[in-house]
Amino acid sequence: MTDADDDEFEGLSPAKDWYRAKWERRPALVHPDGGAMTLYVGQKYDPAHFNLVADAWDHDHCEVCYATISNKSCDNAIQDAYTDGRAWICPSCYERMIANSPLE
Ligand SMILES: [Zn+2]
Repeated sequence: MTDADDDEFEGLSPAKDWYRAKWERRPALVHPDGGAMTLYVGQKYDPAHFNLVADAWDHDHCEVCYATISNKSCDNAIQDAYTDGRAWICPSCYERMIANSPLE
């Protein structure tokens, strides 16, 4: 454990919020011009500026190491990981950053 990394990950949820889950596609708000995409978690949005597209969110990245977490079988994607309902972290980072963390 190094002190240098402490600040970078202080935004991670506390251990009790994380649970192991199989990654699944989620809806996203997609900008009509293409490209920009925001995970849809029930927030309000302006239909003039975003389209709600089911299953558009096709992968996440580990919050710590940026590994790909997805149900895609390619790219060595991790398919089972830990989530707090929004962010995802891979199992090895969970062990290192959450399960064995002295932080509450
Ligand atoms: Zn990771």
